Amino acid sequence: MPDVSRLPRPVAETWDWQLRAACRGQDSAVFFHPGNERGCHREERESRAKQVCARCPVLDRCREHALSVEESFGIWGGLTEVELRSLITQRRRAGRRHTP
Ligand code: SF4
Repeated sequence: MPDVSRLPRPVAETWDWQLRAACRGQDSAVFFHPGNERGCHREERESRAKQVCARCPVLDRCREHALSVEESFGIWGGLTEVELRSLITQRRRAGRRHTP
């Protein structure tokens, strides 16, 4: 029998929150914009995505994931790319302040 003790451990528990996501099975185009999207089209799409996120039972987990891996594309945890970028920047600055 092969020795599997050195293989990576199963990580299902890391991702199983996604099974309860309100966006599961929905059109991903609501959460990820096309390259040429601008102005009111973007605002409307982001608003629709945020409405889905607002009723999502794993919103906090999703947001924390997006911040921890510094997601730069799409709506995550009810936040737009601009909002995510702002929080990521704040976290980086706060981290630098706490580094000895
Ligand atoms: S918070 Fe929004 S993007 Fe995240 S899993 Fe829930 S519905 Fe999907």
